[in-house]
Amino acid sequence: MFSIDLSGKNAVVFGVANQRSIAWAIAQALDRAGAKLVLAYQNERVSKSVEKLAATLSTPAMTIECDVSADENVESMFARIQGELGHVEAVVHSIAFANRDDLGGGFVDTGREGFRLALDISAYSLVPITRYAAPLMVENGGAVLTMSFLASERVFPGYNVMGTAKAALENEVRQLASDLGGDNIRVNAISAGPLDTLSSRVISGYRDMKRIHAERSPMGRNITLDEVANTALFLCSGMSSGITGEVIHVDTGYHIMGI
Ligand code: NAD
Repeated sequence: MFSIDLSGKNAVVFGVANQRSIAWAIAQALDRAGAKLVLAYQNERVSKSVEKLAATLSTPAMTIECDVSADENVESMFARIQGELGHVEAVVHSIAFANRDDLGGGFVDTGREGFRLALDISAYSLVPITRYAAPLMVENGGAVLTMSFLASERVFPGYNVMGTAKAALENEVRQLASDLGGDNIRVNAISAGPLDTLSSRVISGYRDMKRIHAERSPMGRNITLDEVANTALFLCSGMSSGITGEVIHVDTGYHIMGI
């Protein structure tokens, strides 16, 4: 097993809701590598569970409420982090939201407001997060990471508007990587296979999606949270110093299959 040392580095992780969240698995991996963490959570509803989880990390983590639907929240959060920690070397964006009604039925029925909301929270939010994080990364360079899914490239009935959001998100990864590469700030995405979380359970057809992934992927199984978290750790560390604008599939190879 290789080891990555992130001691002396600060990492901000968005998207922990509970112990099943992909963001939580990533936070734990970054913590094990020695990074100091800030956990940015959505709202009061999840604050208790996030604070409980934060207390289990080996280095005490700051927890900050940040609803990404308003840029001011993101700006003031990074201003606070700048005041308290000075610098940041890694930011993980593990956030998505769409109305339940828009995650099933025909994509053709997606309404304007549901479309706007899904794209705003799940895709646009990466832009202000990167914008306000970048000045804190300029000193040492840094890594921004987001979470995507194969529905950005192919049709998964039921995933609907979230597929559109993931396509936008992956395009943002490339544009942000181009903007910030000169400052040694790298921007990448993980395209993960299905994992049982609060968000995935809302998608109609999720069970079938997971079963079919296991049946058809070259490795003949589903991925684990640890596999995603380890890839995230790699992408947040100097081990991936030459990689930016990339979407890495962590899906036991499902995306290469034709049938
Ligand atoms: P999750 O429900 O645990 O995480 C989603 C997070 O988004 C939650 O913490 C929620 O609080 C946060 N969020 C939603 N609206 C927000 C807002 N306005 N402001 C701030 N935070 C907000 O589910 P997850 O599966 O861990 O999802 C994390 C990411 O991984 C998402 O982008 C998801 O699309 C992606 N992903 C998940 C899977 C899967 O199968 N679970 C596969 C590929 C990609």
